Amino acid sequence: SQVPFAVNEPVRSYEPGSPEVKSLIATYKEMWKEKFEIPMIIDGKEVKTDTKVQLQSPQDHKHDFGFYYKGDMQHVDQAIESALAARQQWNDLGWEQRAAIFLKAADLIAGPYRDRLNAATMIGQSKNVHQAEIDAACEFIDFLRFNVEFMTEMYAEQPVSDNGIWNRAEYRPLEGFCFAVTPFNFTAISGNLPTCMAMLGNVVVWKPSDKQVLSAKIIMDILDEAGLPAGVINMIFTPGKETAEKVLAHRDFAGLHFTGSTSVFQSMWKQIGNNIQDYKSYPRIVGETGGKDFIMVHPSANAKEVATAMVRGAFEYQGQKCSAASRAYIPKSLWNEVKEVVGAQLKTVKMGSPEDPSNFVNAVIDKNSFDKCKGYIERAQESADAEVIFGGKCDDSTGWFVEPTVILTENPKYESVCEEIFGPILSVYVYEDADWAETLKLVDETSPYSLTGSIFAKDRYAVAEAYKALENAAGNFYINDKPTGAVVGQQPFGGARASGTNDKAGSKMNLLRWVSVRSVKETF
Ligand code: GLU
Repeated sequence: SQVPFAVNEPVRSYEPGSPEVKSLIATYKEMWKEKFEIPMIIDGKEVKTDTKVQLQSPQDHKHDFGFYYKGDMQHVDQAIESALAARQQWNDLGWEQRAAIFLKAADLIAGPYRDRLNAATMIGQSKNVHQAEIDAACEFIDFLRFNVEFMTEMYAEQPVSDNGIWNRAEYRPLEGFCFAVTPFNFTAISGNLPTCMAMLGNVVVWKPSDKQVLSAKIIMDILDEAGLPAGVINMIFTPGKETAEKVLAHRDFAGLHFTGSTSVFQSMWKQIGNNIQDYKSYPRIVGETGGKDFIMVHPSANAKEVATAMVRGAFEYQGQKCSAASRAYIPKSLWNEVKEVVGAQLKTVKMGSPEDPSNFVNAVIDKNSFDKCKGYIERAQESADAEVIFGGKCDDSTGWFVEPTVILTENPKYESVCEEIFGPILSVYVYEDADWAETLKLVDETSPYSLTGSIFAKDRYAVAEAYKALENAAGNFYINDKPTGAVVGQQPFGGARASGTNDKAGSKMNLLRWVSVRSVKETF
């Protein structure tokens, strides 16, 4: 490659009292008072409708900070038409011109938009300053810069001419339009899915989660300021199911880039299968879905390191990461010490609004999530099979607050060990030290997912055993570390089995799914 390799955006530490944290909290407070009116963006224009949906902040569900305009099926049609109309000119622009727009967007986030995008993520998605920073600022910037770097490498890697023949590969965008469906939990993912496809010359219909419209709109503002032409990415707020039906029935639908629930992804895949004869090309399907991520501990592990990984891996961002640790397997010989340290750490953890940066735990995203977590906690409290050993309090008087909760069970098939909860609930199963090998098997077989997982051990033979026994159990596998926090350019992210198509976000492997290569042989 002829360009310097992208480097990860340095993470601001937001030390108490620092100018950075003051500036971010001041932005938060200003934005908290605003009454936003968030339109869809189709063909570069703001689209408003008669249906206004009130914006809710998870940390204060009575607070009114405006509304977004909800669209219907005519807006889906308009978004598709707008994308298709923009396609030729966008593609003709050439990759260097396209790349410049996304590099500029990264600089805008790193500089003038950093506080605003972070604060929007704090207000709308209830992240604390650190969680917002590693997501909305750093990871999104990294996605943009590294993807440009990967794209540059792709275009530069051309086969060499030989004996009067010049072979070359032309990376063409997909013929048609692409569909990005993105989740609430990472502003960076919501920005990456549409932009990485667009970078390669594709045109996109983007449906963000209706829990993330505030930061999504700011992403569109940034892309607009960076010079993204009208129609390349069209952002719509329309009903999910009907939108999918409409988009996936279109002859020019060419690719789905999805992050969200397993069931929605599977239903979309089925629809694509049903419509397969009607498409111009076979659509590309890329999805990252659920997880039931493990921490597997060997008796040789350091109990304090394990405890810290459990607390951080399970409870950062209230466990609302596909990668969050949600089941831990601890050997009996270490359990007392692990339990003590987890308990001591949880005692120091504060819960409340992200407006106060010392609140490590903020609210879960909405009432559905709150009710779901509460259900698991209440059933565990009543069950003969389980015991709530830490946390368990749920308080929805102001916002959707669920205390970090640890459920201890002797039943390795207990519901909270097996099912994805997507909240601050960690299940612990304590095994007899002698049962290490069987427990490895249990870890592998307990869940249909395979997203992330950690093994803790000092004994290298044990590490090697787990490495082998769990080779298909996690797309992102951690040795002596928590299973969250993959960094773009360092640990490409994604899982297999029911967790997705494993087309690693933030890697060349992912970008290659959004091109259709023309192989050219020229004879002199
Ligand atoms: N990439 C994130 C991590 O490594 C998780 C992304 C997700 O939750 O979808 O923690």
